[in-house]
Amino acid sequence: MGKRIAIIGAGPAGIEMALAAMEAGHEAVIYERGSVADNIHLWGFVRMFSPWRMNVSSHGARLLEEMGVDLPPEDECPTGREFIESYLEPLTRHDLLHGRIEEGVEVAAIARKHALKHELLGDPERARRPFVLLLQRGPAEEEYAVADVVIDCSGVFGNHRWLGEGGIQAPGEKRIQRFVDYRLRDIRGRDRELFAGKTTAVVGHGYSAATALQDLVELRQSAPDTRIVWLLREDSPSPYPRFANDPLRSRDELAGFANRAAGGGVTGIEVHRGAQVVMVEQGDENNPMVLFVDTPDGEKRIKADRVLGLAGYEPDNSLYRELQVHECYASLGPMKLAAALLAEESAGGGDCLKQGPRTGAELTNPEPGFFILGAKSYGTRSTFLLTVLHQQVEDVLKLIDSLP
Ligand SMILES: Cc1cc2nc3c(=O)[nH]c(=O)nc-3n(C[C@H](O)[C@H](O)[C@H](O)COP(=O)(O)OP(=O)(O)OC[C@H]3O[C@@H](n4cnc5c(N)ncnc54)[C@H](O)[C@@H]3O)c2cc1C
Repeated sequence: MGKRIAIIGAGPAGIEMALAAMEAGHEAVIYERGSVADNIHLWGFVRMFSPWRMNVSSHGARLLEEMGVDLPPEDECPTGREFIESYLEPLTRHDLLHGRIEEGVEVAAIARKHALKHELLGDPERARRPFVLLLQRGPAEEEYAVADVVIDCSGVFGNHRWLGEGGIQAPGEKRIQRFVDYRLRDIRGRDRELFAGKTTAVVGHGYSAATALQDLVELRQSAPDTRIVWLLREDSPSPYPRFANDPLRSRDELAGFANRAAGGGVTGIEVHRGAQVVMVEQGDENNPMVLFVDTPDGEKRIKADRVLGLAGYEPDNSLYRELQVHECYASLGPMKLAAALLAEESAGGGDCLKQGPRTGAELTNPEPGFFILGAKSYGTRSTFLLTVLHQQVEDVLKLIDSLP
């Protein structure tokens, strides 16, 4: 018999999962706190590394074909916005999802009906009790919803790390938050004026930091007074991994650029390797912020107009605090999947294109009928790719079928 499935988040994971579940005869509802693909809209101006053929599931492609929607050439890499416009939005118009996405509804917490976290431990009765979700439709409008299965596809992008030690806030950071962006900005486009002729400190050493640096260097060509300071915890002059014959060409180009920059080889970027922000103070009107930074050469004071705090994201696990979820103490991802990823990494992997194969069992939890999918299933790891999602959806459908 079909299950009532509550899906949290209408990003790619939630949409792919809901379509597959509906087609398999279940009753799925997606609760989305903003609007469809809200997180991707925030970085919609960025060109993805992965080409269309890796971003689209065979299931999604078939449904679009039925609707008469053509997809762009499979080897092109879309921007985030193009991915939404040509794939996700058309899919949400498919009959299977008609009336199935509730936008503007935040899931605040999840519990098991008539059972506290520690109760019915390993008891089959726990699986027979439905889930209860606390929904918030606005500040004053709250209600419960009930489901047999809950699939958390809420991503990590809404939950950034801070500038300070170990990802926590640096003293003073809260007070100057309005000058800090914890996500990429459209430096070449809409946000140009925030950065042109200003001093920007970029904190972090992931691909987002590399993208921001590349955009700022380009901005300097038309606004030469633009100053760029890069603070990265890594002390290595080549902090970005390169993979032999990398099929994701733009990833490899970006890594090459960032390694040159880290080694001091890119004009216009002042680099501080092995650097850790330890305090932030409000500056004067010329430089609204002063960052106090520990470096191998002693403490430095960096004055800046803006900070791009791109130190990564982590899952919001408060949603399922009352469920029996076994989390990895290092990545905050679901434990079995985290262990599989760690084993691959230890075996010399690290390339997000070389993951798996998986059995599906990695997605199970002590809590029966609760699954974490998509970017959130990788916890703090930033190696999640949409190709992984497509397999996850198939695996979860099978796991749902095996539930009592
Ligand atoms: C700059 C950038 C570039 C990237 N490039 C690539 C790429 O080239 N290829 C690739 O495969 N991946 C790429 N990624 C990773 C990409 O983010 C994921 O592949 C994809 O967005 C993950 O989808 P998701 O559905 O898991 O999460 P998200 O897209 O983050 O969607 C989560 C959704 O859940 C909603 N939500 C959150 N909390 C709640 C709540 N409590 N209640 C209700 N709704 C909630 C959010 O509003 C959001 O709509 C990139 C990421 C970034 C940041």
